[in-house]
Amino acid sequence: MIIWNAFNSLPTWHRKMVLILSIMVMMLAAWPSEQAVATRVNDDEPLADASPLDEGEAQPQALARRAAKPSYVTKQVKVRRGDNMGVIFQRIGLNTTDLHLIDQLDGSDPLRMLQPGQELTFKLTEQGELHSLYYPHSLEQALKVSRKDDSFVARPVRLELDTREQVARGEIRSSFWGAAAEAGMTEDQIMDLAAIFGWDIDFAQDLQPGDSFRVVYQDKYQDDERVASGDILAAEFINQGAIYRAVLNEDGNYYTPEGKAMRKSFLRAPVNFKYISSNFNPRRLHPVTGKVRPHNGIDYVAPVGTPIMAAGGGSVVAAGYNQFNGNYVFIKHAGNYVTKYLHLSKLSVNKGQRVKQGQTIGLLGGTGRVTGPHLHYEFVVGGVHKNPRTLDLPQAETLSGRELANFKLLAMPQLAKLDQLDKPELQLAQNKRTNGGN
Ligand SMILES: [Zn+2]
Repeated sequence: MIIWNAFNSLPTWHRKMVLILSIMVMMLAAWPSEQAVATRVNDDEPLADASPLDEGEAQPQALARRAAKPSYVTKQVKVRRGDNMGVIFQRIGLNTTDLHLIDQLDGSDPLRMLQPGQELTFKLTEQGELHSLYYPHSLEQALKVSRKDDSFVARPVRLELDTREQVARGEIRSSFWGAAAEAGMTEDQIMDLAAIFGWDIDFAQDLQPGDSFRVVYQDKYQDDERVASGDILAAEFINQGAIYRAVLNEDGNYYTPEGKAMRKSFLRAPVNFKYISSNFNPRRLHPVTGKVRPHNGIDYVAPVGTPIMAAGGGSVVAAGYNQFNGNYVFIKHAGNYVTKYLHLSKLSVNKGQRVKQGQTIGLLGGTGRVTGPHLHYEFVVGGVHKNPRTLDLPQAETLSGRELANFKLLAMPQLAKLDQLDKPELQLAQNKRTNGGN
């Protein structure tokens, strides 16, 4: 399997870091104490020896203080289940009067919502008194509390995240999920990739070994560590020889290189592929008759309770039970389309109700005439059963005029990046180009 994952913008980031470090050094020289705190947001030691306490202090005093070199003890505390600030203060032997003062501060509320696994950094004086505390409470926000006069001040600190453009490529051997994860994509991004092509490809049943994908995406980094996944900017999926390509437009939607919306009136599959144990079902047997695809529908085998989605928006024309269908839902869509969902364990909609595409209409089950739990799905056009996986589905909106022109300008370089992913030896060239553009 050929899979790789390149960190495109590393050299650029490197340059930025050198610049930032130079500025820090200059600032430190000019204004030693306060700037040290302000610029150390992403540092391993968020509490530098200085604090806003020094702010506004006369120079000689500050110098005297430095001469005396007050030293602090840093304590890192990992939040355990059931912890609150009171428990933690007791555990490390801090004064509860200080905690009361901190609790009264404007902006200290994040301290009331500690989550297990988070980390607090306390800085204590040699006498064991609280000097300051630092609490990164979300990916992009931290809280700093410092002693000031007879009380404390609380100050929010914004944590900067780097956005880096990445590329990934994978070829499916045993599962799409495995190939995408191996290519370095996060769970969210794998789901996003499947959603982008979910109107064209039935990820639950249509994937074949040898299918492949190429993706340009963003990741968010903090201190050189990936902390969040960003958007997929462009992607290609080759399914059974058919090539599908999509580029993210400024409007937040994905379009083909020609400007046609990826979103269509119907999803290819009413079940999310992540619930299907095997995505390769070339000759699925009917659970009752044992024949290959003998009937007017498609069977999806997944655990009982798997959410079943409306393939398209419409209204529920039937929702009930009989001995053959078990619990069933029929939905009528614009343009003389009807979709049918059988053998459900639970119905989530009523007759007459409007439903949106992707809305959960019930849970997979084994009710009615079946030998095992599965969803039986039918797609009916003008009274005739069709195979929704091969049918040309109604096209949604298409970009035109200035919108199309703008999209093409945006799409061209992204598609070029996908093209360059073809051959591993072109990877380096692409990295250089991307860096130049940053
Ligand atoms: Zn069936």
